[in-house]
Amino acid sequence: MLIVMRPDASDEQIRQVMERVRAMGLNPEPVPGAQRTAVCVLGNRGPVDAELFENLPGVSQCIRVTRPYKLVSRETHPENTVVTVNGVAFGGPGMFAIIAGPCAVESRDQVFRVAEALASRGIRLFRAGAFKPRTSPYAFQGLGEAALALLVEVRAQFGLAIVTEAIDHENFEIVEQAVDVVQIGARNMQNFSLLRRAGKSGKPVLLKRGLSATIEELLMAAEYIMAGGNRQVILCERGVRTFADHTRNTLDLSAIPVVKKLSHLPIIADPSHAAGKAEFVPPLALAARGVGADGLMIEVHPEPEKALSDGAQSLRLDQFDVLLAQLVAMQR
Ligand code: PEP
Ligand code: MN
Repeated sequence: MLIVMRPDASDEQIRQVMERVRAMGLNPEPVPGAQRTAVCVLGNRGPVDAELFENLPGVSQCIRVTRPYKLVSRETHPENTVVTVNGVAFGGPGMFAIIAGPCAVESRDQVFRVAEALASRGIRLFRAGAFKPRTSPYAFQGLGEAALALLVEVRAQFGLAIVTEAIDHENFEIVEQAVDVVQIGARNMQNFSLLRRAGKSGKPVLLKRGLSATIEELLMAAEYIMAGGNRQVILCERGVRTFADHTRNTLDLSAIPVVKKLSHLPIIADPSHAAGKAEFVPPLALAARGVGADGLMIEVHPEPEKALSDGAQSLRLDQFDVLLAQLVAMQR
């Protein structure tokens, strides 16, 4: 249940409502909004009696939250959540955020080259994996801590915010300390201990949809992070597995308007991991923008044919330039 306070409710009245929720053995979570604060009641197994709250001073109304994800639901928070990183507002009105960079940090030369090129094109968020979740244990696993150190240097040198993945609980802390946005990858979308740890983080989290996750599962995964206290969650549609094998995954474009209806969280699209082939990345990127995505994550590599991972889907810089121009043209 959501207890909506009146716009003029005092802090003391909000505190009293939260006290009453606690006295029932439940967990009150304040949800500040533009007009008024609401208190979300968490931990109840059945319906909560609205009458217990409706007559308390400062309470405007009690609303039943019908979705299993409560903090993530638009019922709880009607306005869009805006997550701002390095001046880029994910979910901000009229904003379109772009995260770009190679699949992985491969060497100092590679990562500096591409970071410099992207920064000079106005990109403010740089992605590159340090710890890579690979299907084969024999494939390149990422440079690990050495890569994080290079990413810290990239941030200092080019003013780029860093987005990189934490693949397990053990390395979450070192990733969190080094980067600006912690990514939770598709394969870990339901790694509940990792989600709980991300909930304790002060850094924004980019949560990618699992390979076969429903929208409800994606939103419940985000709920784990929000229930831990971290409100800065950005969702990412990166394609799901279907019978179709003409692309690596099937970019579920419909997920974007559906998520935006159900949740207040920003959602971006990753057409690179969906397409698996560079030539299909730009049209899917434009389509994602067309259906209302709040931004994109695009893999870019200075020499894709030499990439140690995901070269086939990585755009060269000249291809990325064409896409940027097309995105700008779409805005007009
Ligand atoms: C990535 O972004 O580098 C990645 C591994 O993506 P996903 O988890 O979507 O496969
Ligand atoms: Mn990749």
